[in-house]
Amino acid sequence: MMKSIVIIGAGESGVGAALLAKKLGLDVFVSDNGKISEKYKKELTDCNIPFEEEGHDFEKVLVTEVVIKSPGVPEHAPVLRMLKDKGRKVISEIEFGHLFFSGLTIAVTGSNGKTTASGLLYHILKTAGLSVALGGNYGKSYARILAEEAPEVMVLEISSFQLDDIETFKPYISILLNITPDHLDRYEYKMANYVNSKFRIAMNQTSTDYFIYNGDDPEIIAKMADFHGPPKRISITQDNYLHGIPSKDGNGIFEMNLKGKHNLFNAACTVEASRIMGLSEAQIAEGLKTFVNLPHRLESCGMIDGVEFVNDSKATNVDSVFYALDAMTKPVIWIAGGTDKGNDYTVLFPLVKNRVKALICLGLDNEKLKNSFESQIPTVLETIKVSEAVELGLKLAAPGDVVLLSPACASFDLFKNYMDRGDQFKENVNHIKNSEVNIQKSKI
Ligand code: ADP
Repeated sequence: MMKSIVIIGAGESGVGAALLAKKLGLDVFVSDNGKISEKYKKELTDCNIPFEEEGHDFEKVLVTEVVIKSPGVPEHAPVLRMLKDKGRKVISEIEFGHLFFSGLTIAVTGSNGKTTASGLLYHILKTAGLSVALGGNYGKSYARILAEEAPEVMVLEISSFQLDDIETFKPYISILLNITPDHLDRYEYKMANYVNSKFRIAMNQTSTDYFIYNGDDPEIIAKMADFHGPPKRISITQDNYLHGIPSKDGNGIFEMNLKGKHNLFNAACTVEASRIMGLSEAQIAEGLKTFVNLPHRLESCGMIDGVEFVNDSKATNVDSVFYALDAMTKPVIWIAGGTDKGNDYTVLFPLVKNRVKALICLGLDNEKLKNSFESQIPTVLETIKVSEAVELGLKLAAPGDVVLLSPACASFDLFKNYMDRGDQFKENVNHIKNSEVNIQKSKI
């Protein structure tokens, strides 16, 4: 059994792992190559956990046999190479948490929809009265939850980075939502590596465990041909949800507030998981009906002069924009742009042709976006100011249209993060709504 532990990286996962290690009575040392945020430094200091920042002292990090790596630290980081060369065992914080959790774990992964699906599942289980916690890639880290509470069921949102360094992590139910190109820079730009990483979620599952997956996803279907996961597999396809998710007690279709096909799919996965957990159809119906999603995910943020504004700032890749546009039932003024992650926009062309009246590019460098859509959308404009994007959106829209912020890109060129981008969008919408600003509508 381990007596001491070194943790590389002092973000939410690393600090969570440190708190759990301390609670377990292990000697713990935290080492970060960058600056540690004040919030986490205070937590470490308050718990008497030694740490270093802005560099690794190789002698100090070599003192233990087992090293916990935060998911943000890339595999090729020199300190990890050195530790592995010297024979140290490097595990992820998820693996560490798993070693000390005896309840049931439900793990959700995918390129898009992880937060929505895991949040919805948590809400359904919690509303039904189960002792359940939610964490992982979003919110509290797995290890932190174990340091602070003792739930019987753990719903975990898991990223591919977190799956890369697991060894024995074994969920009772794993959910694989979809696999579309994302984060390929961490996978040698090879889709196969990224797909393999996502499938690790099921690699230790056995005959008593369940694997719920997207049976319409081409990458998943292809990989299922040589899949060695658990025999209890549940494939969710469009037939299961496209016209609503039927309740098994004859009460028709489950009601829910979430919009769009993609959310029906997310809900269908969580309904299956809830059934496996023994919930009644009535309990599932109650949870679905009362769930409100987090902000920045197709979040309706008000009407001005009959024009609806929708904040989907979390849509940082093409696939999530595809579902956002698909969910729109009104003509769209689309605000997109930011830091391009190697996007291929052609998949959006058929949707854009039918629904998008104008594109407002909101980024420092809009050339690729403009070139891609100038032949597809009648009006393409650009700006680097979110206030101007909102004003232009309102000018270009007619009553009954929707102005949709769904960027397909990361936000770091103009904003702190996607939340900052979404918040600024909402503030500007509210500002116009609340002030008497009379924007002369001119047809551009
Ligand atoms: P993640 O945690 O995987 O980033 P989120 O639930 O935060 O996923 O949603 C991110 C974006 O993806 C949002 O714009 C949302 O509307 C979209 N989205 C949600 N579920 C899906 C899905 N199943 N397929 C495609 N896009 C989705």
